Amino acid sequence: MHKYENISQPVIKRLPRYYRFLGELLDKGVTRISSRELSDKMGFTASQIRQDLNCFGGFGQQGYGYAVQSLYNEIGHILGLDHCYKAILIGAGNLGKAVAVHMSFEKRGFKLIGIFDNDPAKVGTVIRNITVTDLDKLEEFCKENKTDVAIFTVPKAAAPSIADRLYQLGIRNYWNFSHYDLSINYDDIIVENVHLNDSLMILCYKISDACDEPEDAQEFRKAD
Ligand code: ATP
Repeated sequence: MHKYENISQPVIKRLPRYYRFLGELLDKGVTRISSRELSDKMGFTASQIRQDLNCFGGFGQQGYGYAVQSLYNEIGHILGLDHCYKAILIGAGNLGKAVAVHMSFEKRGFKLIGIFDNDPAKVGTVIRNITVTDLDKLEEFCKENKTDVAIFTVPKAAAPSIADRLYQLGIRNYWNFSHYDLSINYDDIIVENVHLNDSLMILCYKISDACDEPEDAQEFRKAD
């Protein structure tokens, strides 16, 4: 049972956005804000914001608004960002490199401790001060270094056998960028999927509903 079980999944899903937004307010030196102002800036209704924030303790005070710092701290605490879960990344290709370099793991509750690939051209290269290790050494590494999370940036075909090995090593938490459905074979794992293609297709759907294709689209399609 999760210690914040009383907070619903839709609220949890909105928490990162609140957290990001409150962080920006703090950067600007804002110390308190009303639900009305938050609502104007974030696009949620004021009553939704009051309801959401009441779920974990009601930081708002009538006539005062919300204390930005306390709310920011509490949301960070609920999300568990003060943890330091050890993560390894599998697949140091274009996407893997981008994820490794771009993400502020330490501010999000994680520390990246290893990067693996099976391509000899990538093994030994350095990304984010971490030397890419041959996937053959995965077992050895995980036995020496407690690993909580695996980040999957390998192609779909490579994922099942790697997932099996990680599972055997006791790793149960995954940040999955591959198109492989990790939860198919295991029911006791935690997976957060990030499917960039799905997101792009949704954008395409929204655009195609709203505007016509450009006239030269046919030529672009041929060139691709
Ligand atoms: P590149 O073309 O430079 O390999 P990419 O991002 O296009 O980059 P992908 O085919 O998407 O490559 O593969 C992502 C990464 O996963 C690559 O670095 C690849 O070497 C690695 N990879 C593929 N199969 C495996 C595997 N079985 N074990 C470990 N790493 C793998």
